[in-house]
Amino acid sequence: MTYVITEACIGVKDRACVDVCPVDCIYEGEDQLYIHPDECIDCGACEPECPVTAIFPEEDVPPPQVAFVAKNKDVFASDAPPGRPQR
Ligand code: SF4
Repeated sequence: MTYVITEACIGVKDRACVDVCPVDCIYEGEDQLYIHPDECIDCGACEPECPVTAIFPEEDVPPPQVAFVAKNKDVFASDAPPGRPQR
């Protein structure tokens, strides 16, 4: 299980989640932030910090957002994986 960042993050990238993640597993892509599914320890600290409610536990992702579960995973295997968040 992991937490997932969904559509509401696109164009926002508030980064409040980054500050509270104890294992630094939130990365920044061009359009949104992503949680590395193999690094997330499922602590839940990031979820209430998001001002646009973009973060959900994987099993609670709303049906219209389910594609983001795969997007958060696949982006790390892409040619341009997300990196450390820019401040
Ligand atoms: Fe980081 Fe915890 Fe959020 Fe996972 S659930 S991304 S470990 S703050």
